Amino acid sequence: MRAFRMLNWQEPPALEEIDLPEPGPGEIRIKVAGNGLCQSDLHMPQLPAAMEELMGWTMPFTLGHEVGGWIDKVGRELTGDKRRYEEGQPVAIVSTRSCGACLECDAGFDNTCDSNRRGRGYGMNGGIADYLILESSRPIIPLSGLDPKIAGPYTDAGATSYHAVAQVRDKLGSGRTVLVIGAGGLGGFAIQFLKILTQARILVTDLDAKKRRRAKELGADASLDGAMADLAGEITKLTEGRGVDAVLDFVGSDVTIATSVACLAKLARYVLVGAGEGRLEMPLFGALASKSISVTSFIGGTIADTRAVLALADRGLLRNDVELFDIADAQKAFEKLARGELLGRAVIVP
Ligand SMILES: [Zn+2]
Ligand SMILES: [Zn+2]
Repeated sequence: MRAFRMLNWQEPPALEEIDLPEPGPGEIRIKVAGNGLCQSDLHMPQLPAAMEELMGWTMPFTLGHEVGGWIDKVGRELTGDKRRYEEGQPVAIVSTRSCGACLECDAGFDNTCDSNRRGRGYGMNGGIADYLILESSRPIIPLSGLDPKIAGPYTDAGATSYHAVAQVRDKLGSGRTVLVIGAGGLGGFAIQFLKILTQARILVTDLDAKKRRRAKELGADASLDGAMADLAGEITKLTEGRGVDAVLDFVGSDVTIATSVACLAKLARYVLVGAGEGRLEMPLFGALASKSISVTSFIGGTIADTRAVLALADRGLLRNDVELFDIADAQKAFEKLARGELLGRAVIVP
């Protein structure tokens, strides 16, 4: 089968022919319909070989952690799962990996499970391939009406931004304001969830005029140029000097962190999602305490988040802009993502 893979540390990925994997005891083979690309996929070739020891990653591995597909073959001894799996059944695969047995999984925070240090598409075989082996049925979510080819982005871009919105829902009653920083794949979903789940006014910033226009189409009340001088001042003005009740920062750069902290209202919550490696060059207590601000951060969505997103999508409530690429053109899709030219998500179709 074909698979788009990391072959060595510090080298770009490549399309390879590899053997069709057989599902072992307890495993399930998925025929991939489509796999969404994520910003994090772009960073894989820069990662150090120390990931082997630090996170348990093994090289080589197939990229891709946003998978939609069909059940293809069920291995023997599928235990602990009363659901039935039939060949050809359309499914989406939860993008984070979890054990189901630790305290975090037990509390429903399975995106915080230690098992997720290594997952499908990051350190073990993922979904940019003809087939994918699941080590258990745990991440499988059956689809009723959705096309599995475009379901992948709901499992990561969708579920991660849903998780972010869930962290601030209690702050966003009527008369409140939320700021979404970055209106790409994740931010675009967040705007839609905020519109469906909260009554807050939605402000959006992005550097790209096309993404700002799309943000308005998706439900943003105002969209501002992220490069504007005194962006925080402008946002404060738009909220009559009060500031915003929540920020969802899908960028996480020095600039977006400083802007967020400067325009948060009293009792606001700042959610850091973007891995932009930004720093805050000021005393943390001084920045947060007098306004009783809370800060939260996480990686990826939970199984429950993924189910919630797929349920909204199934009801036709979500716009999921995708650009399809044949697996032979996976490299082109990566280049387009790297140049910031995609308006929605790139989906690689085997
Ligand atoms: Zn991702
Ligand atoms: Zn766990």
